[in-house]
Amino acid sequence: MPGKRIAVIGAGIAGLTAARRLRQQGHIVKILEAGRVPGGRVGERMVRGIRFNAGARLVYAFSKPFNALLDEIGLTPALVPVRRLSAECVGPGDRWTVELMPGLKSLLTPGLSLAERLRFVSFGLAALASSTDPDDAASALDADAVTLSDYTRDRLGANVLERMIAPVFRGTRCWNPEEVSAAFFASTAPHLVGKDTVHVFKGGMGRLPQALAEGLTIECDTRVTGVEPPGDGPCRIHAERDGQPLVHEADLVVCATEGSLASSLFADLDPETRAFFSGVRYNSLGIVHYRLNRQVEPAMQFFTRAAAGPIATWQQGPGNAATGEAAQLYAQLSPEAVQEAIDRDMTDRLDELVRDGVRTLYPNLDRDCADRHNQWIARMLPVFYPGYAKSVAAFRERQSAMARRVYFCGDYLAQALITGAAASGERAARDIISHWGAS
Ligand SMILES: Cc1cc2nc3c(=O)[nH]c(=O)nc-3n(C[C@H](O)[C@H](O)[C@H](O)COP(=O)(O)OP(=O)(O)OC[C@H]3O[C@@H](n4cnc5c(N)ncnc54)[C@H](O)[C@@H]3O)c2cc1C
Repeated sequence: MPGKRIAVIGAGIAGLTAARRLRQQGHIVKILEAGRVPGGRVGERMVRGIRFNAGARLVYAFSKPFNALLDEIGLTPALVPVRRLSAECVGPGDRWTVELMPGLKSLLTPGLSLAERLRFVSFGLAALASSTDPDDAASALDADAVTLSDYTRDRLGANVLERMIAPVFRGTRCWNPEEVSAAFFASTAPHLVGKDTVHVFKGGMGRLPQALAEGLTIECDTRVTGVEPPGDGPCRIHAERDGQPLVHEADLVVCATEGSLASSLFADLDPETRAFFSGVRYNSLGIVHYRLNRQVEPAMQFFTRAAAGPIATWQQGPGNAATGEAAQLYAQLSPEAVQEAIDRDMTDRLDELVRDGVRTLYPNLDRDCADRHNQWIARMLPVFYPGYAKSVAAFRERQSAMARRVYFCGDYLAQALITGAAASGERAARDIISHWGAS
């Protein structure tokens, strides 16, 4: 059978993974990507000598399929372990160390009662028998109807929630525990207990999309504006590049954009699919990066909500004399400050929101700051709010049930992680191959 012409919209990790699998099966795959480079929310950016990540900074080791994919694309030797990640947590009048990877050291977190420490131990023991899939929030459906705050308060205790869970979720994911379901936590945490290592890539996170993109046909700077209903003929994909309209034809389409952008590209979605997409939500994130003209000591701090400032995460990154890279400061906004930036239309002036807080943390800011960059990420992570993982499971079941011309993938259909995006790309490719075969 001749290979199908397949257009993949979006060259994030989900789109690249799907495209790679479909090409391996003999299909003729072309990726259309709106950005300048492939990778979406994974990769490095450089603005006036300020280096930062488009999104993800760490690779979790818990996904066996993703680790196999890294082996396949030759990236396993590029993994650099980061062990025993911890941060200083700052509350009003109180400071303590919080472990980012739950383990025995977490038991030393000050401010927990004896009963809470014992509950933490039994949670760790139960984790050994967990059957959840860390690449799939819908593998923890029993935790989907309840908020993360209720789930952890009931199972682990109020102090565990306030002193361990909330600062880490606010500081790394910009999620408040009462706004998300427990499905992300319940599907991933059991696979983190006792594992003290996460990874980065030697040479930067951009190595991942680069390696996945190897051998694929990708048209960057090409924004898809709509896909015409296929009818009996080929799908017609309308796009624009440099302000010029383009039309591509394909037998099948894989839509691998962020979920909140997907449905607007298709005028003819069935009501169930449209209803699903109307429930896809993302949070936003703002970060201010400062380039310094002198060296700093490394530091990482999370500020609790009770500390009541605009900054949730503060980092000092020393420069590198060998590469000539300057030292940088990193001020990540709290969920409340992100909302304020949106409400006051200040998403391009985040530095004004955090300036006083940064001066308190780094009093010589005005003397040492050579330049600054406001990074605004309008769609940071899909929000797995209570009930969302259940609707994801139903959507995926419908997508797998019968052949169609348009397939969807992305982290919003699996897990809000790189590994989840890759798993979703694998799943979409599996569906297509099972419905339409290989060449
Ligand atoms: C700040 C931040 C920190 C994170 N930290 C981590 C972490 O430490 N570890 C981890 O595992 N995960 C982390 N994540 C999550 C991880 O980055 C994402 O889950 C994952 O990269 C999502 O991949 P994706 O392919 O689903 O989507 P995306 O990467 O968003 O890809 C979608 C692509 O579609 C393109 N596109 C959109 N519309 C169009 C259009 N109309 N036409 C053409 N192309 C279009 C976009 O340009 C984009 O390239 C983080 C994310 C962020 C933002």
